[in-house]
Amino acid sequence: MATLWRRYLGVPVIYKIAVGFLLGVVFGALAGPQVMEALKPLGDLLVRLLKMIVAPIVLFSLVVGAASIRPSRLGRIGAAIMAYYLLTSAVAVAIGLVVAQIFQPGAGLAVAAEAAEVKPRKPPSVVEVLLNIVPTNPFAALAEGRVLQIIFFALVLGVALALLREAPDARVREAAETLFRVFDAAAEAMYRIVRGVLEYMPIGVFALVGYVVAAHGPKVLGSLAVVVAALYSGLFIHIFATYGLILALLARMSIVTFLRGAKAAMITAFVTRSSSATLPVTMSVAERQFGISRSVYAFTLPLGATINMDGTAMYQAVATLFVANVLGVQLTPAEHLAIVLTAVLASVGTAGVPGAGAIMLLMVMQSVGLDLARPEVAAAYSMILGVDVVLDMGRTMVNVTGDLVGTIVVARMERAAGAPSEA
Ligand code: ASP
Repeated sequence: MATLWRRYLGVPVIYKIAVGFLLGVVFGALAGPQVMEALKPLGDLLVRLLKMIVAPIVLFSLVVGAASIRPSRLGRIGAAIMAYYLLTSAVAVAIGLVVAQIFQPGAGLAVAAEAAEVKPRKPPSVVEVLLNIVPTNPFAALAEGRVLQIIFFALVLGVALALLREAPDARVREAAETLFRVFDAAAEAMYRIVRGVLEYMPIGVFALVGYVVAAHGPKVLGSLAVVVAALYSGLFIHIFATYGLILALLARMSIVTFLRGAKAAMITAFVTRSSSATLPVTMSVAERQFGISRSVYAFTLPLGATINMDGTAMYQAVATLFVANVLGVQLTPAEHLAIVLTAVLASVGTAGVPGAGAIMLLMVMQSVGLDLARPEVAAAYSMILGVDVVLDMGRTMVNVTGDLVGTIVVARMERAAGAPSEA
């Protein structure tokens, strides 16, 4: 038994995950929904294990990261990554609009106008959103896993610690150094846990994928196949064209090399459908596969998991055109522009949890006059909700991929600016 386990540990984790994935697809198709429903707790366990590490790994890594560099550099990294995140999301929406023009998802589909029970949610104002980044109680933020608030507090704490490490009083300096080391060791311990969780991942992936195939496979093959095909084509183009170009030009890295390193994070995102739950794996990939400095990725990746969602932005564009097509509405060029702007904003506001993008989609639909209060709009919207799980898998994978690409680019630029890791 013990030797068997040792042998298992010896196989590279990504192969085991791939086997779990393939078995899940085949088994899910053969076994049907009931069996997979019974096995689903094995998948839920994976998601819980990942979520368990999110808050501590962000806090510990980011405190260490922020304490290791000068605040001015932090500001430069912040500006660069924000520009990257917003621009690439806009490009993703544009690609979404183009593929939707080609595929015309929803055209020819009729809706029965009995309305679905979908309640619109009022989006918070910009001022509220910004104010909300500052936690009134950092421990509550940690307890509830509010990533932006944790980032804010960790940055402030990290910068304070950096200042104390250079304090004139030797005792203060020593104490700060000790605390820094404690955070550093705590961060390392979290990465060690991630490696342990990765060993369990094949089983969790098997259960999650099998469940989706059993429960949603038939629907995806039906009348909604075109919208699924449209989105996945767009996502594919975004990965190979947009990210491929960015990596080649700005980081001198081929997309193949990148995908080889990023695959554990991409698969995790695909099966968990949550950027936030994937975060521990994304951070571990940034460090172990790409050798990125902690002071860069500990900041850019949690931020990206919360606000940078290229896949979601693209999905919101494609889905809006789907609803318009079902209703036979022709959108004007100005309305297409409105979709670009609102989809970028909506994706920023989308939480990194399963299905959140479908709620923020309502904001994008609203911007072109597709109001959920109209029964035919609600009916078209609920059609696309029927395949949301499958759309969510692809878009979340691209969300996480985009975070990693941006992080690599910013890390390269930082290195080029003559600032190697100072940790
Ligand atoms: N599930 C996505 C994510 O976590 C968000 C969405 O629903 O679009 O990135």
